[in-house]
Order: sequence, then structure tokens, then C-alpha cells
Amino acid sequence: MAMVVFQGVSKIYNSHSAALEDLDFEVQPGEFVSLTGRSGAGKSTVIKLLIGEEKPTKGRVFFSQYEVNKLKDGELPAFRRHVGVIFQDFRLLPMKTAYENVAFALEVAGRPQRDIVELVPQVLDMVGLSEKSGNFPHELSGGERQRVAIARAMIHRPEIIIADEPTGNLDPLNTYEIIKLLEKINQLGTTLLLATHDKEVINTLEKRVITLDRGRIIRDEEKGKYILV
Ligand code: ADP
Repeated sequence: MAMVVFQGVSKIYNSHSAALEDLDFEVQPGEFVSLTGRSGAGKSTVIKLLIGEEKPTKGRVFFSQYEVNKLKDGELPAFRRHVGVIFQDFRLLPMKTAYENVAFALEVAGRPQRDIVELVPQVLDMVGLSEKSGNFPHELSGGERQRVAIARAMIHRPEIIIADEPTGNLDPLNTYEIIKLLEKINQLGTTLLLATHDKEVINTLEKRVITLDRGRIIRDEEKGKYILV
């Protein structure tokens, strides 16, 4: 069974033009898929529909056993624990340490302290940040902040990690390290959906690439390359 299914999905934010037009694609469990295209092509909209932040104007969006567009507000928190999301701007809580940022995700889910003290160090170790668990975000580099965000996204052991321009604020070396970390997470069994317009990232991955242009899929290739459209 596919993990992600978009079926005839269109999204119109206002009456002027469609952000997405009749999108059909599937992502299988274990895949690493990049979603690319110039700014405004519709990448973030795909992600918002997939995490239930926006609803399609037409069509259906499935994730695992969920039909995302039919989820009620009360069902969204439980659904989102199956989905780890990371963003370009990290979205860490500035007054909490790396450890506390990750722990907070478990606290709001009502997990007991004994789980928190066991799981948080494990996931910080996985992203290579054990030494910095007591640092606040402003005491971390951009790459380290993104590692904290990845640790937080991984804490519920999601089936998929969805990354929206995760290297957009990073220099080439940090970009490389974050992409290597996402590859490692994928190799350990988590499905990856990466939205990026970074040509270097796409070309070093040598994985499936879906290219969007003005809300339509214009290319969907295994071992795809970044192609200017
Ligand atoms: P990308 O992530 O590829 O840059 P987006 O999905 O953010 O593209 O945007 C696709 C199109 O939808 C753009 O034309 C953008 O201006 C429009 N759009 C995105 N979000 C909104 C919104 N909340 N309201 C109105 N238009 C939007």
C-alpha cells in the first residue's frame, strides 16, 4: 500500500489562479522523494495539504490509513504524530534548551517522564548532538538547530519525515551534513519527502525527483536531476 497518495488534487487559495492543478502521485514506504520547482511552483502547498494544514479545493489526499482532507480538528494531533515535519526556519522554542525542545514534543503528547528521559537522549545521539543537549538555540549553529528540529521530528518515530526547504538557511557544509543525516534516517527505514529548490542537493541525492511548475507535475523521475524550467 502506498504511504502517500494525491488523487486529482487541485488547490485554489483565492479565485485568481490555482496553486496546484490536478496533481496525481504516490510515494511508497521507504522512498526518498524530492519535490522541486521554482519559488511559487506549489511545493509548500503540497506539504500543507499532506499535513492537514490546508484542504484541497478538489481531489483527495491520503497518508497511510488516513484520508487527510477528511480529518476533523480533534483528530489532527494524533495524525501528526505519524508525520515528522521540519522547516527552513527550524521553529525551535528559544527559551528551551535542545533537550527541552525535544522533550516538549513528548510532554504535550502526555508521555510520562520515564519515557522522556529514555527517548530524548537516544534521538539527540542519533542526530549527533549529545554534547550540546544543554545549549539554547541561540548557542547553536544553524546546522545544529536543524539537527534539534530533526530530533524533535523523529521523537514519535514517525512513518515519514517531511522537510520543507530544510537547508534554505544553511551554508554548503551544513547543507551537506543535514542531507547526509536525512539519508541516514531514510536508510534506517523512515520515508522522506524533501521540498527543495537547491540544485546541488537534488543532484547529489540521485533519488526520485518530482518537478512542479505552476502547480502541475512536469516531471517525475527515478534518480532525477534538477532541470531548470
Ligand atoms: P513553493 O513552496 O513552491 O514556493 P507555494 O506552495 O508556497 O510554492 O505557492 C504556490 C502558489 O500559491 C503561489 O502562487 C503562492 O503565491 C500561492 N499561495 C501560497 N500560499 C497562499 C495563501 N495562503 N494564500 C494565497 N495564495 C497562496
